[in-house]
Amino acid sequence: MNNTKSQELYKKGQKHLVGAVNSPVRAFSSVGGNPLFMSSASGSKIYDVDGNEYIDLVLSYGPMILGHGNEKVIQAVQQQVARGFTFGASTEDEIILAKMVCNAFPNMDKVRFVNSGTEAILSAIRLARAFTGKNHILKFAGCYHGHTDALLVAAGSGLATLSIPGSAGVPKEAVQNTLIAEYNDIDSVKKHIAECDDIAAVFIEPIAGNMGVVLPSDEFIKELRAITKAAGILLVIDEVMTGFRSKFGGAQDLLGIEADITCLGKVVGGGFPVGAYGARNEIMNMVSPLGPMYQAGTLSGNPVAMAAGISTLTELKAQNPYDKFNEQAATIEKALLAAAKENGIDLTVNRFGSMINPFFSAKTITNFNEAQECDTEQFTKFFWGLIENGIYIPPSQFEGWFLCSVLSDGDIEKIVNAINSAMAEIDN
Ligand SMILES: *Cc1c(COP(=O)(O)O)cnc(C)c1O
Repeated sequence: MNNTKSQELYKKGQKHLVGAVNSPVRAFSSVGGNPLFMSSASGSKIYDVDGNEYIDLVLSYGPMILGHGNEKVIQAVQQQVARGFTFGASTEDEIILAKMVCNAFPNMDKVRFVNSGTEAILSAIRLARAFTGKNHILKFAGCYHGHTDALLVAAGSGLATLSIPGSAGVPKEAVQNTLIAEYNDIDSVKKHIAECDDIAAVFIEPIAGNMGVVLPSDEFIKELRAITKAAGILLVIDEVMTGFRSKFGGAQDLLGIEADITCLGKVVGGGFPVGAYGARNEIMNMVSPLGPMYQAGTLSGNPVAMAAGISTLTELKAQNPYDKFNEQAATIEKALLAAAKENGIDLTVNRFGSMINPFFSAKTITNFNEAQECDTEQFTKFFWGLIENGIYIPPSQFEGWFLCSVLSDGDIEKIVNAINSAMAEIDN
């Protein structure tokens, strides 16, 4: 495989960009080698600057659920671009997207659009504190909720990939009200609730996707909902990754629980910078201009991004790819397990809808500690094997793979063949 141009750009990029990237996972630090620079994408494929073609299982870490360059989305975006980029005033499209989102999630009467998942989360922290009058927040080790100070502890993927516990520059005052519990361990939550009567909210990824894909047990997630409710603690379900991924709506529906506050990002903007937080009226009416909690944004509800969001969700609803996602993910899981067995490699696969993750471990993976015990060297070899065979997956053991709705049977066959080749190369 030729990646001369990627290598040149990587060298050039380091001069004025930090590590030649604008988000750390793109630097490929944990898998060695140089990052790929992309030039275009279409449907299920993405092309690097050297002209190599890959089936894209990264999908910009989730947003591109329809694949790249959906015609209807392109049209909607182009029409809006011609009408204007941003007005700093309200538009009808914001109302349309708000209605679509509120209808798709339980317990959501109103929503506020922001520009990223991180921004949705940091706003939700402020809102939960404003509504409850309490200050502590509880999160789970290995869950990532964006890079806001208060939740940037034990934060999964990016940090786990770089093997750092937290970030420099986060004052201890910023995290002194943050409590950490263990995913799938309800006792670790009960302990905090027993010891602290100042908890405003529990933040959780309903399906964790930032320590690799990790599913909550039915008992854990239902009990979490029950004990937070009983203690007057808001449950903030971070559906930035899972929203519209495994059903039209959220993972909370599939798990049979309801959030007090839901956070969104990724798919809801159809590839443009959109985040959102929403809740029932009683909570959302705390937000300015109706209430005393201030939160604002020059580009929030940006017309082009709204057009992309509306057209993406409309198309997604029409296509309803969710059964197909389950079948395709099951095929990939089967191929991964068979190839690992064939080559005497320990492998566990977790999946939920269109999110799937192979862990190089013999154990079942139910929390961050278990995820961290994986053989990342085997993962690295497997990663480069897939790249060589034209499959682009996230350059980290701790990131899930995503499927898009235009993935064909031929694509799946290519993925399976690449898995077989890459797995056979691991111990060579
Ligand atoms: C990606 C992600 C975020 C952060 O969203 P950004 O748009 O990258 O700021 C927050 N929570 C979860 C679960 C995510 O996957």
